[in-house]
Amino acid sequence: MNKIKNAIRTIPNFPIDGIMFRDVTTLYSNSEAMKEVIKLTCDYWRNEGLTSIAGIEARGFITGSIIANQLSLPFVPIRKKGKLPHDTLSQEYELEYGKATIEIHSDALNSNDKVLIVDDLIATGGTALASIELVKKLGANVNGCTFIIDLPELKGKEKIEEIGIKVQTLCSFEGH
Ligand code: AMP
Repeated sequence: MNKIKNAIRTIPNFPIDGIMFRDVTTLYSNSEAMKEVIKLTCDYWRNEGLTSIAGIEARGFITGSIIANQLSLPFVPIRKKGKLPHDTLSQEYELEYGKATIEIHSDALNSNDKVLIVDDLIATGGTALASIELVKKLGANVNGCTFIIDLPELKGKEKIEEIGIKVQTLCSFEGH
C-alpha cells in the first residue's frame, strides 16, 4: 500500500486555494505501483459475483477498464453530461459551488447486473452517490465501490457504507 501512496503526487492549491490535489498521473506512470493497485482490487472483488465494472469519468476509466479486463467483465462508462452518444439516463448532484450532471447509456446495465463502481478518489462522496443512483435507475444492483484514495475527513466512504454498500480504498490522505 505504501508503494501506491508514495507514487501519488500532491499539488497544493490546485485547482483552487486550499485544495491539496492528489495527482494520480504519477501513479499511472509507475507500472509496479499500478500492478499493485490492480492486484489488490481484483483480489478483493474477484469472488463477489460481479457482472459489470462502471468507471467514473475521467480517472475512473483508467483503473476501471484494467480491472474489467482482468476480471473478464464488461466496462461501462459513467460520463459528464452530453458526452455519451446513445440514449442516456442522467443524475444531477451538488458540488461545493453549483451542480453537475452525470450520465450512463440506458442499455448499459439491467436488473440482472451486479456492479462495481470505480473512481480514483473519494472525497465528499457526491460523485459516487450520484453514480450509485444512476446504476440503480437502470434496475441494477451496486455490489461495491472501489477508490485508490480516501480523504476520510470528508466522510464520503462513511456515507456510502451507511447505505449498505461495501467500499474498498487503498490509501488515505489527511485534509481536503
Ligand atoms: P467527491 O464527489 O467530493 O467525492 O469528489 C470526488 C471526485 O472529485 C473524484 O472524481 C476525484 O477525482 C475528484 N477530487 C476531489 N477532491 C480531490 C483531490 N483533493 N485531489 C484530486 N481529485 C479530487
